Amino acid sequence: MVYRFQCRQCPFTIWSTSRDTIGDAVGTHILGHHRERVTKQDFRIRWSCPHCERSGQHHDRDAGIERFERHLFEHVESSVESGVHVADEFDRTGGVLVRAPRGSDGLDNARVHFLSPGDIVLFVTTAPAERIRLIDDALREWPRRTIILTTKPDPLGDVSDLDLSEGSLEVVRLDSRLGLSEVGETISRIVGEYEDVGGKIAAEFDILPELVEKFDLQTVFKFLHVLAVRFDRADALSHYHVDPRAQSKSTINVLDQVFDLSIEADDRRFIAGPHSELD
Ligand SMILES: [Zn+2]
Ligand SMILES: [Zn+2]
Repeated sequence: MVYRFQCRQCPFTIWSTSRDTIGDAVGTHILGHHRERVTKQDFRIRWSCPHCERSGQHHDRDAGIERFERHLFEHVESSVESGVHVADEFDRTGGVLVRAPRGSDGLDNARVHFLSPGDIVLFVTTAPAERIRLIDDALREWPRRTIILTTKPDPLGDVSDLDLSEGSLEVVRLDSRLGLSEVGETISRIVGEYEDVGGKIAAEFDILPELVEKFDLQTVFKFLHVLAVRFDRADALSHYHVDPRAQSKSTINVLDQVFDLSIEADDRRFIAGPHSELD
């Protein structure tokens, strides 16, 4: 079960499978809107609620802040929704940029979330074995069809220990010397094979960091735009990722504009919009 909270005062949105995680993060976020309500007086910290008569005084700063955050959350707790998917924000047809460190649990968490609505799953990846293992481990059942586009030689060599008989797997080898337009054409051809047979297409485009490294930003941007239009025409849900430790903020800001949504992912939650924390 995934819960969602949207701030009424700003574009901050958080999703998590844990209500406690939502409560903690939302309290902290909302306090960010009411910092002036926390003051220091006679070695004590004092807070007063902007919405009701409640106030508090504490000698311990952290305890005071935590109490105020919990109180602020109580005012909005009833607006936490449940049983949602992040892609509900755009009716499940569109693209999401996931900001998370490469190899992190947060990124895998996002992968599972965005692949799970897919009947037909398409990977464009340089790490086919890791993606296959993730599907095998984390999805309740194999998608009806899984297609892996990769430049990696012998893509299934590293998963020979797995029983893949449940998965209907197709591997398409890409020549690493191919240009972006050939990669796009290959994706488009595969999407064309499946878009009319029924079932949701979920695509994971894993090689955005490689593209940003290899091509200039304008070229990548144009490519992503054409790809997004193609995926939209097939009602596909696609996701991409960047590593905020490896990519500059300005590059991420440019890339953000191609997508329907941009989120930050860790192992417990996804956040869109400003991430406001005290301190
Ligand atoms: Zn807010
Ligand atoms: Zn109050």
